[in-house]
Amino acid sequence: MFQLTLRRRGISDQAVLRAMEEVPREAFVTEADRADAYRDSALGIACGQTISQPFVVAYMTEQLQLQKRDRVLEIGTGSGYQAAILSRLAAHVVTIERFRTLADSARERLRRLGYHNIEVLLGDGFDVPGDAGQFDRIIVTAAMEQIPDKLQERLAVGGILIAPVGPHHGVQTLVRVVRTANDWEKKELVDVRFVPALPGIAREL
Ligand code: SAH
Repeated sequence: MFQLTLRRRGISDQAVLRAMEEVPREAFVTEADRADAYRDSALGIACGQTISQPFVVAYMTEQLQLQKRDRVLEIGTGSGYQAAILSRLAAHVVTIERFRTLADSARERLRRLGYHNIEVLLGDGFDVPGDAGQFDRIIVTAAMEQIPDKLQERLAVGGILIAPVGPHHGVQTLVRVVRTANDWEKKELVDVRFVPALPGIAREL
């Protein structure tokens, strides 16, 4: 059923569909939402954040055109679900989250489920640590008013970045950026709604 819904909505990449089938989404949602884990909708997680809708996860993953050898950067770990999907299709995933509670629980969940090529970092996606180097693919899963130049610089030549761009509260557009030898080529894809990307590490009680 899950695969069928994704296919109907236009996801055709077999490797992406397989990854969506293999990663147990019920392990990434709250206890109360277990029964709804495979519904095509976003669900609430801790810290007032959300795990994205399966179609959007599959669509963004498909648009990234991942290669097995890729190093991927995700901004906005949340539950760790998108990172788990990416990890099935790439060599290594670095994912950054600004809430310690979410970073710690995603790290523990991913370890327990056996995803060993994912590094979860507590940090600010607007200020990616310099020693993280460059990435073949970058995926932002929180809405940015614009894509920071500093982030685009982290993309290797030939790399692809995908991010929801637009106002924090409202509709954003998914933007796909391809870095060529001397430019960044942008294309607008579809309208989406994401929680806002906010600067700095979150203060928690
Ligand atoms: N990809 C996640 C869902 C992301 S929700 C999943 O699969 O579950 C967006 C997440 O981005 C939230 O957890 C939010 O705290 C985080 N976030 C927002 N701004 C951020 C920033 N500047 N740096 C890192 N994470 C950020």
